[in-house]
Amino acid sequence: MPRPFFLVITRRYLWAALVLLGCLIVLAIYSSFPLAVYTLNALPTKIIYDVMLDPGHGGIDPGGIGRDDIYEKEFTLDIALRMRDILEQAGLRVGTTRDTDRDVSHLAKEGTRHRRDLLGRFSLMNQAQVGMSIHTNATRSKDERGAIVFYMQNSYIDKIYAQIAFDELERVQEMNHSAPVPRNNLFLLKAKPPVILVEIGFITNEEDLQKLLDEGFRQNVAEALSTAILKFVMQQPIEQSEI
Ligand SMILES: [Zn+2]
Repeated sequence: MPRPFFLVITRRYLWAALVLLGCLIVLAIYSSFPLAVYTLNALPTKIIYDVMLDPGHGGIDPGGIGRDDIYEKEFTLDIALRMRDILEQAGLRVGTTRDTDRDVSHLAKEGTRHRRDLLGRFSLMNQAQVGMSIHTNATRSKDERGAIVFYMQNSYIDKIYAQIAFDELERVQEMNHSAPVPRNNLFLLKAKPPVILVEIGFITNEEDLQKLLDEGFRQNVAEALSTAILKFVMQQPIEQSEI
């Protein structure tokens, strides 16, 4: 005996609704776990360095551009390599996300070149006890100048690390803010070890640019930031035992 017409329709709609609901659940789960999480879990996270230095940008990514085509990527690499020398002399195992003029997008597979580059730097950060990403700033206002230290918002350890770096940097460079700046939208700061991002100065400001072009200033900055890392590494076990 054939089923009543309305029952057949209802059943079909029920299946369609279930399939639709299933799709929505899958989409909801997928969007709450961005692709990066899967990618990064697959990458090695064994700690093999005491410190990972990340010279911002590199290769086809110049970073900020100052007058006469002066590129951020050159300052960041120069300062990071000076820091590597200082910290290795002090006995630390130092890794760098790059030590030549290139990016690290080859280390990740998914996403745009910029995204892959960030993922590559992120995975390298996870191979160290502590990390520092080095940048110079650029903005439309030619008056804006000074250094900024960014740290992961709501992280007690990272805030301590940022304050040490701020205090050391303040000895050799004018600061843009009166204290380290908490942020929650800087991807590299979300790495497992404490990581801070330091903007040394504004290449769009003539005063800062003149400093950055001076080798003596870059060496002073490298020494100040290296001292900060050494101080933080020394006190880290004490801080951790207090938590
Ligand atoms: Zn930068």
